[in-house]
Amino acid sequence: MAQFLETVLEIDLNALAHNYNYLTSKLAKGTKKLAVVKAFGYGSESIAVAQELEKLGVGYFAVAYVKEGVTLRDAGIRTPILVIHPQLLNFEELIDRCLEPTIYSARVLNHFIEIAERKNQKDYPVHIKFNTGMNRLGFWEHDTEHVLSKLKSTQAIKARSLFSHLAASEDLNEKDFTLQQIEAFKKIAERMKASLPYEPFMHQNNTSGVLNYPQAQFDMVRMGIGLYGYGNSEKENKNLKPVATLKSVISQIHSIEPGESVGYNRAYKATVYEKTATIPIGHADGISRAYGNEVGWVTIHNQKAPIIGNVCMDMLMVNITGINCQEGDEVIVFGENPTAEQLTDAVGSIPYELLTAISQRVKRVVCRK
Ligand SMILES: *Cc1c(COP(=O)(O)O)cnc(C)c1O
Repeated sequence: MAQFLETVLEIDLNALAHNYNYLTSKLAKGTKKLAVVKAFGYGSESIAVAQELEKLGVGYFAVAYVKEGVTLRDAGIRTPILVIHPQLLNFEELIDRCLEPTIYSARVLNHFIEIAERKNQKDYPVHIKFNTGMNRLGFWEHDTEHVLSKLKSTQAIKARSLFSHLAASEDLNEKDFTLQQIEAFKKIAERMKASLPYEPFMHQNNTSGVLNYPQAQFDMVRMGIGLYGYGNSEKENKNLKPVATLKSVISQIHSIEPGESVGYNRAYKATVYEKTATIPIGHADGISRAYGNEVGWVTIHNQKAPIIGNVCMDMLMVNITGINCQEGDEVIVFGENPTAEQLTDAVGSIPYELLTAISQRVKRVVCRK
């Protein structure tokens, strides 16, 4: 019986559980686990992923923006949700949906206190972020006294946690810098805790922090990319399983003669008799033009088929000369082989970018392998 396929992104919840358990094995007992599910769960399917992680006992979620947190609440997620980069415009909705903001500057702190007071909140949980070297978001060490006096001046909010973010936890050449960030965070947090009448919890590690800096586990870790199967190193990638597999299908096969070209701008020209296959996925689905012209490839029956010519908006063409395949056969764009890491290495990018680029046009299929 012929099987009819289309382009789908398979989300393997068993791989997710495997990665969660692997990362958990690196943690001291009792360390809280926050799962980062921003950007649709790193391009996968944030609701299914969050539901599975909730079952596995995750203690916190993080999203980047309020809208992403609202999606999780609408789906019935009850676990606390940290919003990494909330916009001031959305603070009321954030409170209405029981989302917890990162407070990273005096402007944000003042505005959030104002809204929380206006909405008659008491001890609304917020997370105070300190900049220890990333220079992206966060209070500086010299802001500590100001933050403390503001926190003490209101009943409306309460610092549930203090946190910071590592800039280069995956790069062991930057070990000295990372150790400095850890020390800086400890010093600030100690100053804060010494002066507050209650004890906020502390967190600094992302995935590579979990893998490389156990001394920075503190009370909680924030795990993103590792949960999705990528560990920012060859060694750790072996211990993890890709959650997302991008699959497609051969729409049409052509036999072309020497001198014929393929695709827009005639970017590929055959010099010998060749076979090409057209695949229903393009740059509008997140496969950048950078993968064209034999930089990227797909796998058909476990064999490598280079992408030839320019990637189109909705399609791309691959060279299948020498591969025994037919129209309707399955194509792996990434997953186990090739991995997102192998493809992104070829274009000087990182798995984070390719995973999150897969557009919402691609159907998500949740499975357990
Ligand atoms: C995205 C993000 C993380 C997750 O980082 P990974 O490298 O994917 O584990 C953790 N913390 C913050 C503040 C983030 O923005």
